[in-house]
Amino acid sequence: MAAYEYETHDYDVVVVGAGGAGLRATLGMAEQGLRTACISKVFPTRSHTVAAQGGIAASLSNMGPDHWQWHMYDTVKGSDWLGDTDAMEYLAREAPKAVYELEHYGVPFSRTEEGRIYQRPFGGHTTEFGEGPPVQRTCAAADRTGHAILHTLYGQSLKNNAEFYIEYFAIDLLMDENGQCRGVLCWQLDTGEMHVFNAKMVVLATGGYGRAYFSATSAHTCTGDGGGMIARAGLPLQDMEFVQFHPTGIYGSGCLITEGARGEGGYLTNSEGERFMERYAPTYKDLASRDVVSRCMTMEIREGRGVGEGKDHIHLHLNHLPPETLAERLPGISESARIFAGVDLTKEPIPVLPTVHYNMGGIPTNYWGEVLSPTEDDPDRLAPGLMAVGEAGCASVHGANRLGSNSLIDLVVFGRAAAIRAGQVVEADSSVPQAPQAAIEAAFDRFDGIRNANGAVPTADLRLEMQRTMQADAAVFRTDKTLAEGVQKMQGVASKMADVKVTDRSLVWNSDLMETLELTNLMPNALATVISAEARKESRGAHAHEDYPDRDDKNWRRHSLTWFDSDDKATLGFRPVHLDPLTTEGEGGIDLKKIAPKARVY
Ligand SMILES: Cc1cc2nc3c(=O)[nH]c(=O)nc-3n(C[C@H](O)[C@H](O)[C@H](O)COP(=O)(O)OP(=O)(O)OC[C@H]3O[C@@H](n4cnc5c(N)ncnc54)[C@H](O)[C@@H]3O)c2cc1C
Repeated sequence: MAAYEYETHDYDVVVVGAGGAGLRATLGMAEQGLRTACISKVFPTRSHTVAAQGGIAASLSNMGPDHWQWHMYDTVKGSDWLGDTDAMEYLAREAPKAVYELEHYGVPFSRTEEGRIYQRPFGGHTTEFGEGPPVQRTCAAADRTGHAILHTLYGQSLKNNAEFYIEYFAIDLLMDENGQCRGVLCWQLDTGEMHVFNAKMVVLATGGYGRAYFSATSAHTCTGDGGGMIARAGLPLQDMEFVQFHPTGIYGSGCLITEGARGEGGYLTNSEGERFMERYAPTYKDLASRDVVSRCMTMEIREGRGVGEGKDHIHLHLNHLPPETLAERLPGISESARIFAGVDLTKEPIPVLPTVHYNMGGIPTNYWGEVLSPTEDDPDRLAPGLMAVGEAGCASVHGANRLGSNSLIDLVVFGRAAAIRAGQVVEADSSVPQAPQAAIEAAFDRFDGIRNANGAVPTADLRLEMQRTMQADAAVFRTDKTLAEGVQKMQGVASKMADVKVTDRSLVWNSDLMETLELTNLMPNALATVISAEARKESRGAHAHEDYPDRDDKNWRRHSLTWFDSDDKATLGFRPVHLDPLTTEGEGGIDLKKIAPKARVY
């Protein structure tokens, strides 16, 4: 065994992650008197949630008539009928409560004239079960909603005596021989000390894995660490083929250029200077829906009409618009283009690329956030001692496609639900069982192996190879051929993990080692994505398959599951979608006929 000394900590609950989901769970746990630790590899208020601008959806009816059932319907339709009905009902029903709680905790929401929480319109949010006009459902704190939520929840968590372990990196879950999670092994980044956290419940709130791709709007820290830990614990990942793309991320950095840029008259061109969207979508052109524009851009690049040295991106023009319009309506974009692309957008086009924006798939859970370890006989079997919330989890409310502003509400509704559930199942006053020595040793051995990895491939090179492969073969444009190639290439890339090279062996602020650990987490997320995409022979939500352009509810209205046997070998399985709501019409609930599957057209 690798010889490492470590400090031991005992808690009722350990939450890994301090984004919106992790903080809401931490706060709720602490409020109930559970001894709670929250572990984060970055300072809590630097979690990716801080970047969310648009807002958080809840049917408050502050700007006009709205109803939780309409929100539920929009979510069901947005998910392209892949979401779990009970979880989607829970989300829409509990959303107003969760938002009012945020208000009472102190989130500085923007206000209407009457002093109510201001709500703005967002794509896909409608009235009357999709029959009525759009609704203003998205609650906003100016264009800093995520920022406001994070700061408020962090302050409230401290007030309730939650204990924070900041700049601690969670390496692996500590599982016992019965498959129960007993804790987590962590590395303190600034001192190099190691820590074993024993806990009755571990909550994974580690966010998405956007950085498996070359271009992502998410932070560099979004490396799917929770999914990696789950894969190594022998548990499956769910619906990983569903990845949402935004058409206009800045080439290279991935920084988001809002849809508003095209709304104000911006347009896209290829290497021939052609406004190609006119060819694909004669009516809406550059303002066709996000997935359509992303797909057309990808086709242009694939057919050799990309711009730049690598012919691998597209130009977004705003330079024909009057400078006053740009300064007035798109000041933030002008700044982003200057900083992240070195472009003066009054004079030159911005280099852009369809960019990963959100991961619908993740760790399968029920609507209490409890992690599932499905078997054929019991698709809803629990993995004891484990919860997952936020973008890391898959409850599943977003199914095959997430609506804008439905993620922030997912974070707080399910962070809160996990806390309510933990209050029921975790005994506060009993002693904390200790993680088995064998699990601690195995986790240290893996860590030590990576720390001393002395192969031929530097981490950064292997990561880039993975990101380019995923961007080329598991992105927007999907055919049997590209996906089959993608699986093969990604297996090759993943197998190189065994030949990785870490140059810095120290334990203090060793970013080389941390990035390598992150790469070991990104890899199973990436591989699961391409493997489950290759298997799904239909088009649904974000998974648009050129060879199977239609949704196939008979064969494919089911969740995909990916288990890992080794670095590059995975087994695929499925579990049924939950079709039953929590309450039916007679109980004040939803009329099932209203949410029955139909074509998803907007
Ligand atoms: C640019 C951008 C704009 C967006 N705008 C909106 C919007 O307007 N509305 C909306 O609904 N959604 C929006 N989204 C989506 C939404 O913001 C995210 O899905 C959500 O914030 C994810 O929150 P989270 O709590 O799950 O994870 P994150 O906020 O990503 O936090 C993850 C946490 O886990 C910790 N962590 C991870 N791995 C480890 C480890 N190994 N050890 C210790 N700690 C670890 C990190 O330190 C961090 O604290 C946007 C996303 C982006 C990228």
